[in-house]
Amino acid sequence: METIQNYIGGKFQSAYSDGTIDVYNPAKGEVYATCPNSDKTDMETAIKAAAAAFPAWSQLSVDQRSNYLMEISTRISAQLEELAMAESIDNGKPLWLAKRVDIPRAAANMKFFGSAITQFASESHEMVGHAINYTLRSPLGVVGCISPWNLPLYLFTWKIAPALAAGNTVVAKPSEVTPMTAYLFSKIVDEVGLPAGVLNIVHGLGHQTAAVLSSHPTVKAVSFTGSTRVGAEIARTAAPLFKKYSLEMGGKNPNIIFDDCNYEKALQTTVNSSFANQGQICLCGSKIFVQRGIYKKFKADLVALANKRTVGDPLHADTRMGAIVSKTQFDKVLSHVEIAKGEGGHILCGGQAVQPVGFEKGWFIAPTVIEGLEPYCQTNKDEIFGPVVSIMPFDTEEEVLQLANDNDYGLSMTLWTENLSRAHRMAAQLEAGILWVNTWLVRDLRTPFGGMKNSGVGREGGFDALKFFTEQKNVCIAYGK
Ligand code: NAD
Repeated sequence: METIQNYIGGKFQSAYSDGTIDVYNPAKGEVYATCPNSDKTDMETAIKAAAAAFPAWSQLSVDQRSNYLMEISTRISAQLEELAMAESIDNGKPLWLAKRVDIPRAAANMKFFGSAITQFASESHEMVGHAINYTLRSPLGVVGCISPWNLPLYLFTWKIAPALAAGNTVVAKPSEVTPMTAYLFSKIVDEVGLPAGVLNIVHGLGHQTAAVLSSHPTVKAVSFTGSTRVGAEIARTAAPLFKKYSLEMGGKNPNIIFDDCNYEKALQTTVNSSFANQGQICLCGSKIFVQRGIYKKFKADLVALANKRTVGDPLHADTRMGAIVSKTQFDKVLSHVEIAKGEGGHILCGGQAVQPVGFEKGWFIAPTVIEGLEPYCQTNKDEIFGPVVSIMPFDTEEEVLQLANDNDYGLSMTLWTENLSRAHRMAAQLEAGILWVNTWLVRDLRTPFGGMKNSGVGREGGFDALKFFTEQKNVCIAYGK
């Protein structure tokens, strides 16, 4: 049994209460580690340590801070195998996916912001003959970073890298469902010799630990990725205290597929966008609108490919779909399938749990495609966050525009068409923070990332993240006689 510890003020420690939380291997449905069940006392100690570290850290040169981030990035890359294995066991995702995506992206996050901070320039605006204005950007102080379980180290580093690069000190709360790689990351940070208190990692249940960040007077900003429900709670607490907050929340993302698309590319990508990471990516497409001319064929081909996806041992190279992250999530996804049936949905494939040989106690669900649902029923409105998609036909551009936009969420969409004018027309009107045309999940870290409506407040990525983690001050110097 492995024991995960908090990392506070440069020291590894258990929770003050000595309480622990069981950490599961979802492929086996068994406890394999424990993490601290921290509470307010641990959080307050971490916030104090971060506040004490802030003056020195914020006074380092940009190059010095950048060097720390670069060194952490190098060590993540050097430990790719170990970190990917840990992520796969902790989360249930295929090992190859963790090796190809999660861990390289964690290294890239550190490197990207280590480099971006060296290019983060001040602006100046001259009022000719009168005055010159320039913008100072200072770090905020102690900031809180809260991350979810679906892409554990990937999203954890996506927040703390810009926060640290900009000169803040951080109290980070990884998901209690998948705490392992954040713990391994704290070991890397310790080896690199990041000054004590600059990054503090506290494990525990969200409402007992992370919630302290939204209300604590020392914490100047909260960067959160997770559910819309928790995001709303953070906003309710932080807004009246005038803290900055950035919220990356849920999605119910439409895929829009026109008759004139590159069929093979649209099909293969749609299978991935439906079932990658067991459908547990906030950017997964879960409502698939297909134009009537190709609807029947597309549906049949999608189902055939879904049926071919191997579900099983996350560590096996042939596995395309691993385990659902937790029993709670597994039950939630299956309950949504029951709701869909009650709403008149026909299950074209999947719709049930799978018990791969040797993993009978694991939480596996077959890739599921549902047809025959009304566009505005509960299944088509709620974020399911599992390998379950609904497929529906449409006729015209106007119709699908309305179907896609009539959505409580506005995180991402994909659009498949070879008609350039239509692509531009629709891009201007579709209501989502991220639109992919003829592709999915292609990410340039310089671009703004985030959602509209119930999917988010603010944007991460590139200089947007550095702006969020700094306070701007305009200095106006008159020079006229
Ligand atoms: P969650 O909201 O349950 O938990 C996210 C984090 O918030 C965890 O660390 C949790 O401990 C913490 N938390 C729980 N209660 C809290 C509280 N009262 N105050 C502060 N923090 C609290 O989400 P989850 O189940 O871990 O993740 C799945 C959700 O994340 C999905 O809705 C998914 O769409 C979303 N997500 C969004 C993005 C994005 O970029 N928009 C990316 C990944 C995941």
